[in-house]
This record gives sequence, structure tokens and C-alpha cells, in this order.
Amino acid sequence: MKFHPADSIQDLQYFGEFGGVNPSISDSSTYTFLAAKSMLDTFEGNLEGCYLYSRHTSPSNLYLGQALAAMEGTEAANVSGSGMGAITPTLMQLCNADDHIISARTIYGGTYAFLKNFFPKFNVHTSFVNITNLKKIEAAITKNTKVIFCEAVSNPLLEIADLKSISTMAKKYNLKLVVDNTFSPLSISPIKLGADIVIHSLTKFINGTSDTVAGVVCGSNEFIDSLRNVNDGASMLLGPVMDSLRSASVLKNMRTLHIRMKKHSENAMYLAEKFEIDGLPIIYPGLESHPQHDLYKSMYNEEYGYGGMLAFDAGSLELADDLMELMQKRNLGYLAVSLGFYKTLFNAPGTATSSEIPVEEQIKMGLSDGLVRFSIGLDNNIERTYQEMKKCMQEIGVLKVLSETVN
Ligand SMILES: *Cc1c(COP(=O)(O)O)cnc(C)c1O
Repeated sequence: MKFHPADSIQDLQYFGEFGGVNPSISDSSTYTFLAAKSMLDTFEGNLEGCYLYSRHTSPSNLYLGQALAAMEGTEAANVSGSGMGAITPTLMQLCNADDHIISARTIYGGTYAFLKNFFPKFNVHTSFVNITNLKKIEAAITKNTKVIFCEAVSNPLLEIADLKSISTMAKKYNLKLVVDNTFSPLSISPIKLGADIVIHSLTKFINGTSDTVAGVVCGSNEFIDSLRNVNDGASMLLGPVMDSLRSASVLKNMRTLHIRMKKHSENAMYLAEKFEIDGLPIIYPGLESHPQHDLYKSMYNEEYGYGGMLAFDAGSLELADDLMELMQKRNLGYLAVSLGFYKTLFNAPGTATSSEIPVEEQIKMGLSDGLVRFSIGLDNNIERTYQEMKKCMQEIGVLKVLSETVN
């Protein structure tokens, strides 16, 4: 049962208004109706193919949504102005007051903050569990549980969720499995493994040019329609809409996603293998030393590899900071949050993207303060990058310090 998500995207054809090879951009917030009656019908959701107002949907947003639905193998998708603008309406649509969520404990800091600090205002509480431990997940289920939430590849520790087993459990207890697939587009297809809803921050690999924030929810027609419902749809009413100009731009970038993902993966694999041999404690799902390497291998669409993210513990925050500053000075990448750029990006998640997570929690989940997370870029000559990075590691003492502790 092989799935080829990039083929599904390419099988879709769109033409512009005048036969353009890209679809026309609908640069309008509102749309005219020839018959007054059709406006009411559109409002009530009884008329297909009519546009009403661009917070609801726009042609450009629908085109991008179709491409993303094709990529994930869902009936529909709703794009949004950010990844968080996809995650929060989804969870608010699925949960009512007093409901309960089970979430992986290693997730994006913003999602963690929403579940931990914001959602309890509506009496929706979350149990955070080690997502690699199926027994812990099952034990956390209560009669109020509605959702299991996880990232296919977790941020920043790159733990892999066993989506097949978790989705089987979700079905058994009548829960929705919502998967954030931001780290592994094309490589992992959560719907094929049984997930109900897939979310992406398009800001990262999918757009790939670090020029915008954007997001998407992929799911059934019924669920996507419910998000957009004018009376009680969370996306419609909370309003995290994407602008049509941006949407058109993200769609064009998506045309090269398959090529970029292969290169990100190839480069990350190269560095992971080399640095592991050098004695660095590299965390990368493509390495056999990764605890869920076999699991990833059993789930992935092979041609896209193990993704562009890798991490390692530099030993301390000071060493991590010195190393990142030196690598930036030598033009090996940028000290920046986010991921999926042509240039390598690195940061120390404990003080950056996961800083919403309290220090005690960080320790519990194995997030040490010397951890450096890399989003490996599209370097044409990765051998040269490796040599230069290695020099930086030796100058800072990361490599030497580590080999001393090994001996
Ligand atoms: C960045 C990110 C988000 C949030 O997306 P935004 O586009 O910044 O709102 C959610 N999940 C993961 C895994 C991310 O990396």
C-alpha cells in the first residue's frame, strides 16, 4: 500500500483566469451575487461553488487547501494564517467544556502553552504523556477524553509517535487522533496510518522560504465544513484567515517541496552519520541508534527519507551558545528559531522554542539545556559543510569534551 503524496499534488491542475499556468489570485474580501436568493443559500451552506466573504474561504485558499488535502490523502483542508491558527480552532472545535485531551509531552512550545495555560480557562484539561509509551497513553484515557494529540516527529527531541497503534487505540475508545505533521511533510502520511486530522505549520518546510507564517488543517469534508460553519465554526468565528496573496505564494513554493524534502533529508543523514562516527550524541531518526528508527522506517514514504531535523546535546548551554555563534559567523547557518529554510537554522530549544515549558518539565522529558536543534539546509556541498562544522565543534571543544567523557 504505497502512497505517493507528491504525485497526488501534481495530479491536480489549476489554470488562471486567462489560461495562466498558475491559478489567478482572488484579490477580494467579498463577492457579488447575481441573485439575492443565492446569497442566503450560500450563507446557509446550501449552495456549492459560491464565494461569500474571504474569512469563510476564497478561491486561492481553496486551491492551496486542495493541494494539501491531496498531499495528506484527506477529503478536504482548511488553510489558516498560522500553524497555531490551525491547531487552536481544531481543538476548540473538537472539545466542549469539561472535555479532556491527551497530548504528547514533547510538542511545540506554543501548543503546549495553549493546552496547559489557555484551554483550562474553558475547563478543558490536558494530560501530557510520553507518547512513545502506549500503556501510559491508554492509562490516561478518562470518560471525558475526546482527543489524542501528538506530533508525528516531536519537537525538539525527535521522538516518533507510533501512529498505527495510537490510532487503533483512539478508534477503540472513540477518540479523535490529531497529528501535527510539521516536521515530516511527505515523509510521513498520518492519515494512511489511521489518524483523523493532520495539521501543519506551513511556515516551515512546506512554504520553505521563511517569508510567512501559515497553517492548515486536513480532514474529512464534514470536519472541515464544521470549522468553517458561519454559526459555530471555530475557524470562521475565531478568524485566523490566510490572505489570498500569501496563499498563492505558498502554493507556488509547494511545487518544489518534494525536491527540497529529499535534499533536506539527504543532507541531514550525511551530517548525522559523520558526526555520530566522530562521537557526537546525535539524535536523528535515520540513525540506527535512534530508539524509534525501526518504527520510523515502518511508517515513512521511503523516497523522502528521515527528514531535515537533527539534534544533539552540546554538553551545556554555554557550549551550545558558543558553538551556534561560531557556526553563524562562519556562514554555516543562522541562529534562529523555525525550520525548513534553504539555510541551516539552529537554536537551543530550552531557551527558545520550548521556553514555554517549565524547566522541571523540560528535565522530565529529557530536554537538556545544552540541546541544539538543527534544521539542515539545502547545502549543495554537504561534505564542505561537514568539514567546516567539525572545525567549529573542535574549536569550541564540543567534540573534544565529549570524547574525553567517553574515555
Ligand atoms: C512552528 C510550529 C507550530 C506553530 O506554527 P506557526 O506557523 O508558528 O503558528 C506548530 N507545530 C510545530 C511542530 C511547529 O514547528
